[in-house]
Amino acid sequence: MLKWLLVLAVIAGVYYFFIKKKPLKTSAKSAAKEPSSDMVACVVCGTYCSLGDALIKERQYYCSKECMEAM
Ligand SMILES: [Zn+2]
Repeated sequence: MLKWLLVLAVIAGVYYFFIKKKPLKTSAKSAAKEPSSDMVACVVCGTYCSLGDALIKERQYYCSKECMEAM
């Protein structure tokens, strides 16, 4: 009887380990997405765009190529 309980405990432990591991991976993915969702203002027209889409030149943010060339 004790042997079966040990086997069940090991199975439950392995199962719990894999279930616990999955949410950690998804949270790491969502955390990696967060920096790109930061909004920055264009120095030329003031339009807010996400950091991932913004163009960066000389430490200043531009919403588009047109704004970058207009500066
Ligand atoms: Zn702009």
